Amino acid sequence: MTETLSFRHEPHPAPTPAADREAKLIDPGFGKTFSDHMVVIDYDLDRGWHDARVTALAPLSLHPAAAVLHYAQEIFEGLKAYRLDDGSSAMFRPDANARRFNASARRLAMPELPEAVFIESCKALVQADKDWFPSLEGGSFYLRPFMVATEAFLGVRPAHTYRYMVIGAASGNYFKSGSPAVSLWVAQDYHRAGPGGTGAAKCGGNYASSLVPTGEAMAAGHDQVIFLDSSEKRWIEELGGMNVFFVFADGSIQTPPLSDTILHGVTRDSIIALAREEGLTVREAPYAIDQWKADAESGHLIEAFACGTAAVVAPIGKVSASDYRFTIGAGGPGQLTGKLKDRLVAIQRGLAPDAYGWVHRF
Ligand SMILES: *Cc1c(COP(=O)(O)O)cnc(C)c1O
Repeated sequence: MTETLSFRHEPHPAPTPAADREAKLIDPGFGKTFSDHMVVIDYDLDRGWHDARVTALAPLSLHPAAAVLHYAQEIFEGLKAYRLDDGSSAMFRPDANARRFNASARRLAMPELPEAVFIESCKALVQADKDWFPSLEGGSFYLRPFMVATEAFLGVRPAHTYRYMVIGAASGNYFKSGSPAVSLWVAQDYHRAGPGGTGAAKCGGNYASSLVPTGEAMAAGHDQVIFLDSSEKRWIEELGGMNVFFVFADGSIQTPPLSDTILHGVTRDSIIALAREEGLTVREAPYAIDQWKADAESGHLIEAFACGTAAVVAPIGKVSASDYRFTIGAGGPGQLTGKLKDRLVAIQRGLAPDAYGWVHRF
């Protein structure tokens, strides 16, 4: 397989005027303030990956029979680029996203993309749209690499042609309420993943099936839904798009173990490393919802948080289900949660030593 590709640069003929761009960057929100360019790389069985380009962001033209539109052969990634104090750009652990992208590709019967090409494609977009970093506190340039099956064929088998793309969006805070701690709704009738399924792959299909319970959660006034395992309906798995951690009064922390029903979060992995460095005991072990409730009520559990690239770390304040509810600690952000978040954000932004080589500067 080709390990490198050269990108053709086709600058946007009419990029967003600077004044309009600056206006959009004041309050970019999350995932809606798209930059001027995108990366495109095509794949077919004969040529493999070819025709890599950085071009003007534009709608796609797809045959209505394109496999992605019917059988959801689609995967994606999410990572952030930051502008550092010295003016350079950085991405956080893009190699981990590249590896996970290929793990997702294998699960969805799609072609793998060389890791170097994945990283190069993200860099190429950041460089083309270097003026799209918001200057607001906590701002970043969110990268969304993804791959879709483009072949026009309604038979059921892996497609023969694919398109890989990277788009980017200036981003502020993920939770629009900006509330200090999130409120979770426990999905009792829906599951996001099952054994042998695609729960560990980052694919759109997992999200499609999470929308009804997420809608239920929001209608009931909560921020996010938390999913339980589909067999016993008691083991906590994760949120719709974030992993979860529990903090105990004895100074230990716990997170559900990786499996084929849990997404292997880069933030999760980073938090585990930082917590161990802090001298905390970290358990990757199953935790039951009834135990969470009992531990929160007894005071054995004092904090909980969700984590993922978009929000980094989000403290959990309240947990509700149709027949019970409980509060975590005082219902606000916990101390250790805040400390771990600050540690991670400082490394991501180049403000703290990068002992693990996580920050990819360019
Ligand atoms: C992306 C994602 C996460 C978080 O992964 P990060 O690499 O930390 O961003 C967690 N759960 C699901 C379902 C996801 O899709």
